[in-house]
Amino acid sequence: MNDIEKKFKRKFIWILIVISLTMLVVVSFMFYASLKRLHNNVVEQYEHIYERNENIFVKETVKKIIRDIELARGKMYTDVELALEDSVIRGCNVADLLYKRLKNKVSKKELQLIILSTLKREHKDFIVVDENGIVKMHPSIKTGVSIYNFQDAFGNKIFQIVKKNLKTSKEHGTFLCYYLRFPGLYNTVKQTRQVYGRLLYVKYFSPYKWGIARIVFYKDIEEKLKKNIVQKLNKFRYGSNRKGYVFVLKIDATSDNVKVFRVVNPNMPKKLMGTEIPLDRKDIDGKLFMKEMLNKALSVGEGFVRYKFRILGTDTVSTKITYIKYYPQWHWIIGTGYYPEIFKKELEKRDTVLNSFILTNVIGLFVGLLVLESFLFIIVIIFMNKMMKSASDYRHKIEFEEKFQKHLIESIPNPLIIVSKDGEVVNINRAFEEFFGIKKENLTDCENDLQIKMLKDDILRHMNKHKECINLMNLVDAGGKLKNIELHKSLYYDKDETPEGVICVMFDVTKQKEYEEELKIASIRDELTGLYNRRYFKKVFAAEIVRSKRYNNPLSVIMYDIDHFKQVNDTYGHQVGDYVLKTLSDIVKKHIRSLDFLFRIGGEEFVILLIKADENVAFNVAEKIRRRVENNKFSDVGKITISLGVAQLKENDTPDSLLKRADDALYDAKNSGRNNTKIH
Ligand code: GH3
Ligand code: MG
Ligand code: MG
Repeated sequence: MNDIEKKFKRKFIWILIVISLTMLVVVSFMFYASLKRLHNNVVEQYEHIYERNENIFVKETVKKIIRDIELARGKMYTDVELALEDSVIRGCNVADLLYKRLKNKVSKKELQLIILSTLKREHKDFIVVDENGIVKMHPSIKTGVSIYNFQDAFGNKIFQIVKKNLKTSKEHGTFLCYYLRFPGLYNTVKQTRQVYGRLLYVKYFSPYKWGIARIVFYKDIEEKLKKNIVQKLNKFRYGSNRKGYVFVLKIDATSDNVKVFRVVNPNMPKKLMGTEIPLDRKDIDGKLFMKEMLNKALSVGEGFVRYKFRILGTDTVSTKITYIKYYPQWHWIIGTGYYPEIFKKELEKRDTVLNSFILTNVIGLFVGLLVLESFLFIIVIIFMNKMMKSASDYRHKIEFEEKFQKHLIESIPNPLIIVSKDGEVVNINRAFEEFFGIKKENLTDCENDLQIKMLKDDILRHMNKHKECINLMNLVDAGGKLKNIELHKSLYYDKDETPEGVICVMFDVTKQKEYEEELKIASIRDELTGLYNRRYFKKVFAAEIVRSKRYNNPLSVIMYDIDHFKQVNDTYGHQVGDYVLKTLSDIVKKHIRSLDFLFRIGGEEFVILLIKADENVAFNVAEKIRRRVENNKFSDVGKITISLGVAQLKENDTPDSLLKRADDALYDAKNSGRNNTKIH
């Protein structure tokens, strides 16, 4: 790892630490926040449920009390009715007994008086009325007054109703309930006069056709019951902590100003009971809660009223949610309430416990995650180290390969150029620079150079061809010399095996080519005379025979030999001999056509191959040559002669047979005195 990588690693680790710690804090905080939110939600729900339950509870408590009052009233009325009936029946029985005993002993008037006084003794309030509505005895109406047309508060004629009822139930008597008005008393709320009820029980006393009755006042019964209920309510407690109590207010609507009085409130001193509560009484927030309570009671009959109150015996100010219900029979407002703050305080206490629970959990999570993260962190660092090491190894390898490649390219003594498929020069080596006299750095400027352009075009032409190919190109080097260059081109590929470009190595084959040329000449030419040699003769001779036969062209051969040449050598030396051979060849060359061939097939034996020429033409040529040689003066030697043999190709001739005939003809010419020409 190099310094940059080490620095990068340090930076990376720091960033990782910062990011992971931030994430950890964020996750923990989010966890905390969601727990808290959940908790708050639950508390809210709980409060809501609590309030709903408490509402139901207080409502039911009040309703139950009213039901209980109704029940008590019902029972009380039944008891009163029974007692009333009982006393009247007893009165009647007494009257009956007296009548039966004394009817024959005393006068009717006396007996009536005895009966009435006996009844009065029994109960002061016995009422006795005869069948015409004349009062015989009454606690408040004078004797002799007619109540025949007496009306109740609603205009019903009481006596007549009773009389009618008695007709059908003479045996059992009859009850009647009726109401009378209190003179001058008004119910300001309902704008009606207040009435008071009475219960009457009458039994028919047949001997005198009297109605014997007694009356009880509802008011009295109710007052008695009320007292009883007030006592009970003062002691009444409800709820799990037995702290719930019920208060009762009484609405006094008999005057024009509605007034409210305390009736029951166990939390207040007894002496305050019966005192008036001002309607403008306000709670802590200045709300006229008494007025609201009163309005609710008189308009809807029931409802919840909220007001702020200091809880009795504490400094806590709480909203009190009170349910009130109007009990119209007694003009009572019966209510009870609760303080949600007490419950909230209770919840708050639990809240502290729960908060510390949440915090413990969050810290637990934080520590857990920290441990987990540290573990992951170590794994990441180990992994990163490994990765960085392998990356660094890989880079070293690449660097090495690059260096190696550069070195390799530079180590090649031949000029080398690499051209991409797009025609861009990827690389050149020093040998290339030297060959063209350019620098790699200035290559782009040089790319317009005609030679380099040509070279590039040639290389690119190879792109779509074979993997490797070699071709020749003539290039002028930096020194201005024309060079024969062999271009060895091969494709190189990318990882998908797609050709990417061409690597071209240049081989200077100038000298080789020259040598090859020399060699080629040497292989077919005779060194001394420059004529074609025997080997070449064999090749050409065979080929020309085939060709002549195919095209049916005549072909002739002249074979000639210097006469007494041995003597020339012997006399003048070999060098002169050589000179003669050369001069002779130059002379003969001039007498043959360009399409004819002249060969030196032996020491001083020559063959002329005459294309498309028959033996006559050949003979003439031979003669012409012979004469020309005969007439030539060779320096030092003087006159030289040659003998010639001519032969034309025959149908069945092989190269050997044709040559043999020419040789025979030459032999013939030699034997015929030399310096002549013979045809065979
Ligand atoms: P003939 O008239 O019967 O041909 O007599 P000749 O003396 O020419 O006999 P032949 O043809 O048998 O002799 C060939 C001579 O040619 C022998 C040799 O000394 C000479 N000779 C062959 N090749 C060369 C050569 O390359 N240079 C020289 N100077 N002499 C050669
Ligand atoms: Mg010879
Ligand atoms: Mg000879």
